[in-house]
Amino acid sequence: MQPVRTAELLSIGTELTVGETRDTNAGDLARDLTSHGVVVGRMAAIADDLPAVTEAFREALGRAELVVSTGGLGPTPDDLTREAIAGLVGETPAVDPALDAWLGELFERRGLPFPEANRKQAWLIPSAQAIPNENGTAPGWWVDRPDGRVIVALPGPPREMRPMWSGWVVPRLEEHGLGRPLASVTLRLTGIGESAIADRLGPLLDTGARPQVATYARADAVDIRIWAHAGADDVAALVAATEARVLELVGEYAWARGQTTWPEAVAEALDAEGWRVSMVEVATRGAVLGLLGEGLGDRLAFAESLRERPAPHDGHRATLEHLAGRARELGGSEVGVAAEARERGGDTAVTVAVVTPDGSHRETRVVFLAGPLGRGRAAVAIAAILLKRLRDRPPR
Ligand code: AMP
Ligand code: MG
Repeated sequence: MQPVRTAELLSIGTELTVGETRDTNAGDLARDLTSHGVVVGRMAAIADDLPAVTEAFREALGRAELVVSTGGLGPTPDDLTREAIAGLVGETPAVDPALDAWLGELFERRGLPFPEANRKQAWLIPSAQAIPNENGTAPGWWVDRPDGRVIVALPGPPREMRPMWSGWVVPRLEEHGLGRPLASVTLRLTGIGESAIADRLGPLLDTGARPQVATYARADAVDIRIWAHAGADDVAALVAATEARVLELVGEYAWARGQTTWPEAVAEALDAEGWRVSMVEVATRGAVLGLLGEGLGDRLAFAESLRERPAPHDGHRATLEHLAGRARELGGSEVGVAAEARERGGDTAVTVAVVTPDGSHRETRVVFLAGPLGRGRAAVAIAAILLKRLRDRPPR
């Protein structure tokens, strides 16, 4: 077997192609392979149809050094992955005595007769090794091809597939050399769109550049990923230099690195001061609490969601500063936040007041879209304003 640098993934089952089941397996495997430095060139879902499955394996093996399939290893006649692989490599499946004994015992233990349909789960072909399955009756297949390529067939249920993949398949792939060393970093930005980032980064985003730089618009951030596979040069230094250049161009919008979430970033900034926070949000339907609440844990002293701003009362106009101060008192926390969203045109304007022991700060931003999407973005803008205020403390 040769070191694996390229892979394709096949998700087999009509339940996927009719939309009954979401294909989570391919994404899970792709993420893992990518983190090992393997380039995943294609993922496909295929109906339970023998010619279609066979053809999919043939084509994938023509392009990639490793083909991993999930699904189609069940006992029923529509589970055809074994038949497809056997047909493709021109070998005849036979019942493997060891697998047959293991399967027989599984049923015996439960006091059940051995269903003849399950017999094919004990099949092997001469070039296949069985991949043990501790959570089901479908062993996987590891098939070595004469040209060094590998087929790995795993069952569809994620709770069976995952432990087989990480406990058995990955260690074996690593023995043979899995992927190429990869250096990568992700920068998380907010308050700037993908196209504005592209304008600023210019040729850094060219496909084929080394390291590669790409942007991904997500609900909570625009991520910039910078990565390169090891070559003759120092790949870590190369990625670090490009990261520094990217930060020169768009650094004022970067709020985190790696997989950091908003609650994690805010929690870290609060912990740096030993502070807790109280929040009132107006006309956001609790979007801020939804974004930050669970992740802040006990750092969240008080939270309230109002449909509209309270009317003037006792001569006090309920300004956002007033609401933030009141929340801070009610929670007994160092930080108080009050935020209000308003639809403006098709967009959402959000105003935030943050009160800390350093004083009070107010800011308004307009985020793209109204309705639930606008409120979701408003929550991110509110978190961003709070985070900036916590991080940019005046010198003591
Ligand atoms: P199978 O190995 O084809 O018998 O798969 C059995 C079950 O595994 C299916 O009914 C699904 O519930 C689940 N499954 C199959 N493929 C996938 C997939 N790609 N992603 C998530 N679940 C899957
Ligand atoms: Mg199936």
